[in-house]
Amino acid sequence: MAIEIVRVPVLSDNYAWLIHDADAAETVAVDPGEAAPVLAEVARRGWTVDQVWTTHWHPDHTGGNAEMKAAGARITGPAAEAAKIPTLDVMVAEGDSVRIGTHTATVMTVPGHTQGHIAFHFANERAIFTGDTLFAMGCGRLFEGDAADMFANMQRYAALPDETIVYCGHEYTQSNGRYALVAEPDNAAIATRMIEVDAARARGEPTVPTSIGQERATNPFLRASSAEQLAEFRRAKDSFRG
Ligand code: ZN
Ligand code: FE
Repeated sequence: MAIEIVRVPVLSDNYAWLIHDADAAETVAVDPGEAAPVLAEVARRGWTVDQVWTTHWHPDHTGGNAEMKAAGARITGPAAEAAKIPTLDVMVAEGDSVRIGTHTATVMTVPGHTQGHIAFHFANERAIFTGDTLFAMGCGRLFEGDAADMFANMQRYAALPDETIVYCGHEYTQSNGRYALVAEPDNAAIATRMIEVDAARARGEPTVPTSIGQERATNPFLRASSAEQLAEFRRAKDSFRG
């Protein structure tokens, strides 16, 4: 049976994600920035949380780990950031497999936002958890890496099948989209998407997950033709007040 994926809003604009395999009766929480809302959603569904998968060390993605661990979850995350994630039980890196029930995700190392940032890619299920690297119409800030790192990540993401669903770590779409309209003023797909995004946000609705196909059409960072162009977009976005 397919995995079920549930969005859990945490903190001010983060998303934690629950991955549930009904056959195995197993649940993974991805990036629980705080535990309470995640544990509440798990309990509401009659599930128990068996694992946490962490994309990077930032507290808005790991803040709930200790409490999830106390609730019985095994914590998997980037080996390269183990010193900054004291709750880690299982350390992984590029090419490793992580499992929920009979479903397997491959770990991709995608540095730039943080130096050891990882993503979890379910190739068969056509799903990827990108943390703070790929966002809807945006990419993560370059805190511990450079534009060449993030450009390489974007090239890898862009090579995935269009129908791959992208589960990212934040509701940043509207702000990203306002900049995307400026970065690519002639891209009609961005303008069209922004009408939907503005309407969804006005109704208080989320705008993620997204898909690789949608990002290939509307994300200036994924569409950048070189590391230099991505660097230019990133610099401009960092100071953009839309
Ligand atoms: Zn972050
Ligand atoms: Fe974050």
